[in-house]
Amino acid sequence: MAKSIGKVRSHLVQNEKLLFELSTPGKVGYQLPALDVPEVAPEKALGGGQVRTEIEDFPEVSEVEVIRHFTRLSTWNYGIDLGLFPLGSCTMKYNPRINEAVARAEGLAWAHPYQPESLSQGAMEIIAVLERHLAEIFGHDAVTLQPAAGAHGEYTGIMLVRAYLESQGNPRKKVIVPDSAHGTNPATAIIAGYDVVTVKSNEHGMVDPAALAMAVDEDVAAMMITNPNTVGVFEENIVKICGILHAKGAQAYMDGANLNALVGIARPGDFGIDVLHSNLHKTFSTPHGGGGPGAGAVGVKAHLEPFLPEPRLKQAGEQWTWDYDRPQSIGRVRAYYGNFGVLVRALAYIMAHGGPGLKNATIDALLNANYIRARLKDRFKIAYDAPSMHECVFEDSVQEKQGARTGDIAKRLIDYGFHPYTVSFPLIVHGALMIEPTETEPKAELDAFCDALLAIASEVESNPETVKQAPEMTRTSRVDEVTAARKPVVRWKPVPR
Ligand SMILES: *Cc1c(COP(=O)(O)O)cnc(C)c1O
Repeated sequence: MAKSIGKVRSHLVQNEKLLFELSTPGKVGYQLPALDVPEVAPEKALGGGQVRTEIEDFPEVSEVEVIRHFTRLSTWNYGIDLGLFPLGSCTMKYNPRINEAVARAEGLAWAHPYQPESLSQGAMEIIAVLERHLAEIFGHDAVTLQPAAGAHGEYTGIMLVRAYLESQGNPRKKVIVPDSAHGTNPATAIIAGYDVVTVKSNEHGMVDPAALAMAVDEDVAAMMITNPNTVGVFEENIVKICGILHAKGAQAYMDGANLNALVGIARPGDFGIDVLHSNLHKTFSTPHGGGGPGAGAVGVKAHLEPFLPEPRLKQAGEQWTWDYDRPQSIGRVRAYYGNFGVLVRALAYIMAHGGPGLKNATIDALLNANYIRARLKDRFKIAYDAPSMHECVFEDSVQEKQGARTGDIAKRLIDYGFHPYTVSFPLIVHGALMIEPTETEPKAELDAFCDALLAIASEVESNPETVKQAPEMTRTSRVDEVTAARKPVVRWKPVPR
């Protein structure tokens, strides 16, 4: 929807062109001083194969045009600094600014991973202290910080299970995954060479211990369980579940990508989890919108420790050193020692809060989710009759009968000035609306968000067409998603000049 004042474009509402369309031949964004050394042709200096003489349709623009183009685009965005972001910690929770200040400290930001150990003692101590704090939070004996993402942590964790079982004589064949699991869990099991066995959730959205007991035999290597699970429900039988696995010599793996509902209150190691990954870029506050960077810390009980990725930190007197003498290690899973900047932010977050502060953040995350649940539950159907943890999941069955679905409601929410919630996930919920406010939202913001959803519920009741045509306040109104998916245009074609 390109808006204009007559034919004149206004900066307030203009529809930004593509950078390619702003191009004028010959314009550049830099001016270099004249050469004061003899000129060498690039083909000669680099070899002909390394040099591109032309980049087709390369945009030619001045510096200020580039800056304004991207600045204008940035004002179209919705971000956590603008208002509540109901996708929650999984996508973008608020990250205290102090973490950024610490991560930018010169000695940390510019440390080179190959600088000598004698010059890296501070950085190594940061890694050691973070490992210790996370082990305390998880209830585990050791932690590796090498994996660069949650899925990477899962892969590392299941490889640890495989190595451990192999050392016992049999790596086994199957990994159990509940039907509510995040898609990366079955993917991880397959990549690690296991067959996936799915167990169905019961009417409370939980794993049924009796059904599990039927599925566990001597071929099962591990179960990958998320707790609280992806429908926002705490697995009440988790101790029993771990017991069932252990009785058959299987390992209990926990997907702790989002640990916001547990930190400072319950420790996975204490309820029987042998190995867990946690996304430092989710629970422990590193901005990661757009896909990175991340860190998937993995915590383990002592029996899995010998298999952790090498090198491991070890202290020789006062000095930290990297220990490569780890004969049972699964090897490296990443270059260097992990995404160090993410590790610094996680440690800053943990230390700034302290134990009581982390526990408070957890309680606030639960309180905020349950406040939203209480305000919305009379108009939207709650998916499972079980207490909500850090997120609440509704289904769209009431609204579907009235003529609008979760995707329509989400688009209408944009008109009310909020980012949509998670739409249609988890898949086992009919037309899911999944909402995670996180711990930092003030009550006024929660109320504004709930008011918007309640107003939309009334609109769906009286006039579902308005909701089905949303959004109407944005520069681009509803796009044809089916055509976009079936016939994607992924290449810009030059407009004839
Ligand atoms: C985000 C997430 C993952 C995957 O983490 P990545 O860092 O995106 O690889 C796995 N499990 C759950 C429950 C998640 O929320």
